[in-house]
Amino acid sequence: GHVLAPSRARHSCKEAGGRMQPFQNEKAQLIMTLRGMGIVDADVLSAIEQVPREMFVARALQAHAYENASLPIAMDQTISQPYIVAMMSAALQLTGRERVLEIGTGSGYQAAILSFLCRRVYSIERLRPLLVDADNRLREIRVTNVTTRLGDGAGGWPEAAPFDRIILTCAPPVIPDMLLNQLKIGGIMVAPVGRDRNQQLVTIRRSEAGFEEATLLPVKFVPLVED
Ligand code: SAH
Repeated sequence: GHVLAPSRARHSCKEAGGRMQPFQNEKAQLIMTLRGMGIVDADVLSAIEQVPREMFVARALQAHAYENASLPIAMDQTISQPYIVAMMSAALQLTGRERVLEIGTGSGYQAAILSFLCRRVYSIERLRPLLVDADNRLREIRVTNVTTRLGDGAGGWPEAAPFDRIILTCAPPVIPDMLLNQLKIGGIMVAPVGRDRNQQLVTIRRSEAGFEEATLLPVKFVPLVED
């Protein structure tokens, strides 16, 4: 009958003891690619293995979910390339105990990855339709340690500050002071900074003495838009 969709038939196949996961081969291939590109953090690779990226993109793009490529999401935004997600996640040097602020929830994919690597993620998105979808997906995959809010992330999340880590997935021309101020001493921030054709991914460490910045690589993120 029509109820048994082709994908369903594939997933219920009895290979691997009947526990065949969708995209298992594509996932394994992506992990190998990321290893080859220098991502060695086992916890980060394991998070990438566990989060179903196909659920964070439109149905028409699901076949491409495990390519190492950025993909469009709704409202002209993009979900980052897995290599960049992995690299930024690793740069945060998470131990599992941290409270992390993310600016730019987008699809919720980066937040889902972080949810496996820290205690709690606070994620801010300015576009309501994206946030609604992200919340629904996170609930569906049973991620319970991500708290989201609608708004302009440039002001951070004062009620939950300070944070052990801060990650920006949209690029400001310069890092807003409000965000620097919400980073704990001993904390790390990872962010794309700069205008369209001239962005760099940077890490900023806060110590008693101040802020120390290091440049990782040139990147191309959507801009941080202030409301
Ligand atoms: N981390 C996301 C990537 C989303 S792209 C993911 O994994 O899918 C960057 C997001 O930043 C977009 O959704 C955009 O709407 C959002 N954004 C841009 N400026 C913002 C701001 N000032 N505050 C909060 N979110 C912002």
